[in-house]
Amino acid sequence: MNKNQLQQHDREHLLHPFTDFHDLGKQGTRVITSAEGAYITDIDGHRMLDGMSGLWCCNLGYSRREISEAIYEQLNKLPFYNSFFQCTTVPSIELADLLSEVTPAHMNNVFFTGSGSEANDTNLRIIRRYWDLLEQPEKRIVISRKNGYHGSTIGGASLGGMSGMHKQFQALDYIEHIEQPYWFGEGGDMSPEEFGVHAARSLDKKIQELGPEKVAAFIAEPIQGAGGVIIPPETYWPEVKKVLDQYGILLVMDEVIFGFGRTGEWFGADYYGMKPDLMTFAKAVTNGYFPLGGTMVSDRVAEVIKAKGGEFTHGYTYSAHPAACVAGIATLNILREEKIIERVRDTTGPYLAKRWAELADHPIVGEARSLGLVGALELVQDKGSRARFDDKCTAGAVCRDMSIKNGLVMRATGDTMIIAPPLILDTTQIDELVEKARRALDDTAKAMA
Ligand SMILES: *Cc1c(COP(=O)(O)O)cnc(C)c1O
Repeated sequence: MNKNQLQQHDREHLLHPFTDFHDLGKQGTRVITSAEGAYITDIDGHRMLDGMSGLWCCNLGYSRREISEAIYEQLNKLPFYNSFFQCTTVPSIELADLLSEVTPAHMNNVFFTGSGSEANDTNLRIIRRYWDLLEQPEKRIVISRKNGYHGSTIGGASLGGMSGMHKQFQALDYIEHIEQPYWFGEGGDMSPEEFGVHAARSLDKKIQELGPEKVAAFIAEPIQGAGGVIIPPETYWPEVKKVLDQYGILLVMDEVIFGFGRTGEWFGADYYGMKPDLMTFAKAVTNGYFPLGGTMVSDRVAEVIKAKGGEFTHGYTYSAHPAACVAGIATLNILREEKIIERVRDTTGPYLAKRWAELADHPIVGEARSLGLVGALELVQDKGSRARFDDKCTAGAVCRDMSIKNGLVMRATGDTMIIAPPLILDTTQIDELVEKARRALDDTAKAMA
């Protein structure tokens, strides 16, 4: 099929995730056909630096044969076996060992799933089981944050705080949402430090309002990813820690994006010095080569759920899929052997911080923020008042298209442009990324004038 035929068949038969089906029919999709290193190529031969690592997954880029060969070999040896009914497989045990090593010291058990959404559903099941076994069944409520993203199953989407999603389904009734630590959008006249404390105190307020005896857990991403790379003020997590310590409720950190090196530490929890009770992972664990997710379970929780008898009536056919597990093993081995995370921490992260910050001088950029190898640009019409161009987020959509035209994949979340490039980028490629982003901003400014 040629490009037009592919687009036509796509339109007729394929329903895409998070997509306006009506609009897609008008524009036609971009057909991505190949990838190499940190670059993707579409059917027209247009080559782009992938500033989003696929969908936050391909942190090692697209050319790691160690991973694809491990999958191929495993598929020929034992393509599938389940881990129900007292069975197990060698790759699942090896990956569980490896994960226990690279995650924080107090986390030594893993429950495997097929995706991040499923892992957050698993978290809901473990949280309830934990409090039931401790004979505190009144602890039912899970607190989450507005504009957080925790996946798209009913459980994941209920935990998430995206208002557009909540309009299209009926959320679970035991989840409550609090303020997000989004200083640029909601900080008003407060300093970032004041606002960080303020946003964290909204957790305390909510616990008081609900009654601490009813609250089971708090879930949050270390940094909101899909919400727009919202890096909380430095005061936020320390204050949250104080609140959690006071009440003893469980902390779930959703590390689906920030796990495996994005901040320059293995996990966001390491970066912020937090001690989560459960930790969701997915995406980069297999470098995007095979679907896999899971939740890391702390010793505090594992001791309770392992100590008492009675079946935990939860699991997925593809929990601990052997091919997914070997993909995870190969990915973690590369991260460790090639010291990729250390490089982000010591070299490429600081270099991106310096170069990305230069974009703040652009006339339509209200803020340029970054951490490790993740960054965001707030597009504004007026820098002083932080006023946007319009309330339809036109600037973001235009900038995304201009960026692609200039050979860089950036994503738009409203009028916030975000990047999360592969962790293998060198400083020359970071220069290329920043230069292409600047050209996209110039083109956007012209188009919006
Ligand atoms: C992507 C994402 C999820 C959902 O993962 P899926 O594999 O798409 O189900 C959950 N939490 C966060 C923070 C994510 O970014």
